[in-house]
This record gives sequence, C-alpha cells and structure tokens, in this order.
Amino acid sequence: MTSVPTLVLDGRFARELPELALPWQAAETPEPRVLALDEQLAAELGLDPGWLRGDGIGLLTGTHLPEGATPVAQAYAGHQFGGYSPRLGDGRALLLGELVDDSGRLRDLHLKGSGRTPFSRGGDGLAAVGPMLREYVVSEAMHALGIPTTRSLAVVATGRPVQRETVLPGAVLARVASSHLRVGTFQYARATDDLDLLRRLADHAIARHHPAAADAEHPHLALFQSVVAAQAALVAEWMLVGFVHGVMNTDNMTISGETIDYGPCAFMDAFDPTTVFSSIDTGGRYAFGNQPVVAEWNLARLAEAILPLLADDQDAAVAVAVEALGAFRDLYSAAWSAGMRAKLGLPADVDASEASSLVTDLVALVQADHVDHTSFFRGLGAAARGDAEPARGMFLDLAGFDAWTARWLALGPDADAMDRTNPVYVPRNHLVEEALAAATDGDLTPLDRLLEAVSAPYDERPGLERYAEPAPDSFGAYTTFCGT
Ligand code: AMP
Ligand code: MG
Repeated sequence: MTSVPTLVLDGRFARELPELALPWQAAETPEPRVLALDEQLAAELGLDPGWLRGDGIGLLTGTHLPEGATPVAQAYAGHQFGGYSPRLGDGRALLLGELVDDSGRLRDLHLKGSGRTPFSRGGDGLAAVGPMLREYVVSEAMHALGIPTTRSLAVVATGRPVQRETVLPGAVLARVASSHLRVGTFQYARATDDLDLLRRLADHAIARHHPAAADAEHPHLALFQSVVAAQAALVAEWMLVGFVHGVMNTDNMTISGETIDYGPCAFMDAFDPTTVFSSIDTGGRYAFGNQPVVAEWNLARLAEAILPLLADDQDAAVAVAVEALGAFRDLYSAAWSAGMRAKLGLPADVDASEASSLVTDLVALVQADHVDHTSFFRGLGAAARGDAEPARGMFLDLAGFDAWTARWLALGPDADAMDRTNPVYVPRNHLVEEALAAATDGDLTPLDRLLEAVSAPYDERPGLERYAEPAPDSFGAYTTFCGT
C-alpha cells in the first residue's frame, strides 16, 4: 500500500499569514537518489518509506507534490552576528506545507537546497551533500538524546553539482518541524508596521506551540513567557550535552523551542567554555559558554518585535517585557542545575547548596584539565559503581579528582540513573567528517554506522567502541564552515 492518495499537505501558514509566504516552486532535480531516509519518522507522518524511495521521491525534492499543495518561501528578518538584516527569508528553502502526524500533531514539511527563490540574494539556492547529511546526523542525534529539534526526514542527492570552494554533489534535505516560526519571523512582521499581521502571527504561534497562552489573561505576554521558558530549557540541554550551535542568529532561533539550522554546529570534546568551531565566528560570539547569554539577547529582540502587542503604551510595554525576560536567568539556571544533578546521579535528598558547590568544583576541574566532556560523564557512571579509573585517567590533577570523587561518592550517586542521562555516543567531529567525506565520495557505510551509534546514544554496545572515543590527537583543531 502507498500513502499517495491520502497525502494531504495543508497550507495553514500560507493561508493565515500570506504576507510572509511567497508561493514558489522547487527546482527540478536531474537525477534524484535517496541517501538517507528516516523510516520511523516517515511512518509517523503516514508516509510509506518504500514509496518515498521510489515513485514518491518527488515529494522529498518538492518536484512532485500532491494536488492542492502550495509550496512557499517564508519571509523573515534577523540579527546575524548582532547586525540586523531586514530581509533574509528562505533563500534556498521552501515550506511544502503541513502534515498531521499519527499523534495528531501538525508538522511542517520543508526543504533545504531546493533552488533559488526571491530571497536568495547572491546565493545559488543550493546545498551540498555534506552539509545536508551533517544536519541529518546531528538532528537525529539530538532527537535521540531527547533534545527538542527539527527532524530530518531525508537527504536526496540531486545529481546537480554545486559550486563551493570546489565542485560538490548537490542535495536536498527534507526537514520536519513543529513549525519554522523564528524570532526573525516576528522581527520581519514588526518591521512591516502592520499590527494586524503581527497579531495574526502571534496568534498563529500560540495555536501551534503554546496553546495554554490562549487562556491566559494576557495571551501575547503569555506567548512571550512561553518562548522564554522553552528557550531557557533548550539551551540548558545544549550546555549539558556539550553542543555548540555555532550560529545563534535570531533567524535561527525558533518560537517552538526546537533546535534549528544545523550549520557550523558541533559537539565539544574537551570541556572549554571558549570553544568555537565556526570559521566565521572570529569574535567567539557564539562560543559554547556564551550560548545562554546569546539566547537571552535574542529573546530581547523578540520582545522588541512584539512590544506593540504587550501594552498600548510603549513604556508600559517595555516594563512588561523586561520583567518577563527577567525570568530567563532563573529558568535557565534551574534547568541547568537540575540537569547537572541528574548527570551526577545525585539522590533527591542532597541539598541544593551542596549539589551546587560540587558542580562548581567539578566544572573547574574538568576545565583546567581539558577533560573530554562526553566520556568523562559516562565514565563517572563507572566510578559510581566502584571503578573510578576510566574517569580518573582523564585528569592530570589526580589529587583534585580524588578529593572531589570522595565527596561525591559519599552522597550515594545512582549509576543507573546516570547512564540514562550521560550518553556514550554523540556525533563527534572526526566521525562526522569521516562519514560526510565518504558519503560525498559515494560510500554511505560510515554514515550508516555513525547513525546507528548516535540513534541509541545511551546504550553502550559492543563493536561501537571507536564511536565512544575522543578524536585522535592527529585530528587537530576542528573548524566548520558556514558557506554551506
Ligand atoms: P543560514 O546561515 O542557513 O541560517 O542562512 C541565512 C540566510 O542565508 C537565509 O536567508 C538563507 O536562506 C540564506 N542562504 C544560505 N545559503 C544560501 C544559498 N546557498 N543560496 C541562497 N540563500 C542562502
Ligand atoms: Mg538559518
């Protein structure tokens, strides 16, 4: 059976917010070939994987859509590295429409690399196989780690070469998200000076993401508070797992609280707050340790954008916004502290100040010795079971480690709980590079193996040892490139 006859791609975004939706078509793909397909996600969406690999491949590239579908390029603005661009928009992307999944949730089906649009500026509208597979792998890993994220349904090689520093094979990513509303979407709507549009956008966001806000005394303030809470929780999760987004521009921050736009992103190996991977982030604006502050800054831009909805009088609106934004730090700290307690397996009766001093001292130790973040926390699970050597071996300051460990063990950490929160496998940079390089040359085996490891990150399995290890020294300093 195929799902073709029942496939309905709705156009709710385009219908409710036509000012932000430019009807557009995907470019033809000379020789489409599926490189990666998330069959489980396809099934959730009511799409038959066999069909998608065959006759249905045109859905994944946007070239053959069901009757009535209205693909659009979405308009948005954004602060990029702090500088405001009034008109960004989907320069190489299209929203194909919305699907209702098997649990009744509305999900966007969206393409990246689908050709030029009126928002392309100087760009070619295309994407190369490597960066699209990077988004596929990292978003899959994030999802498996339990971190809110857009999903990757498929990467399809187009058969069209893409000119970058060299000529590379082109690809289209089919992405699924609870929506593609961004902080930058609100900035764009605000800049039109059309208050009715701004209000419709806010109401659309409430209905799709934060429905409880509709019942609040002040729904638009409640929307803002909900986004603040969702982003505080999200960025805390990034920090707990060592994820560096790399390009936290306001157009790359969602209203839903899902991680979006995997460009120069990477997982940190050695713990260091100054870690930067992006070749263009020369000032370290989006360094690992800056992410909470940047998220707060971006939320302040969202507050500015929706100011007219918060109160009739500007001063009153600013006061309301400042107060609501003020919650970010406490929400972030609470989420991060709770997450660190879980990573250390601390029983519920350990008091907050004791946990907090333990965490502070640990952060100082791992930072001083440039300890590998992922394997250290996993190794602590073994230490809780009586074998401290794997973790201890990562330190130069053995006395410091021993003293800290004695304090921690005295609290009775729960090793099994730790193993459920400290992953064995994350998409380490050297493994991602290896997989992408092989895939670009036509060999998908390393990619499939890496996906196998990161899609069950908490279950240690024999045969996957090298996926749990830090990069060899020969890998050197890692840089990712934004010119994707
Ligand atoms: P990003 O860095 O992916 O968040 O993209 C920032 C902006 O640049 C968005 O408006 C993108 O649509 C646009 N963009 C990125 N790459 C291309 C490309 N190859 N062609 C056209 N527009 C692009
Ligand atoms: Mg983006």
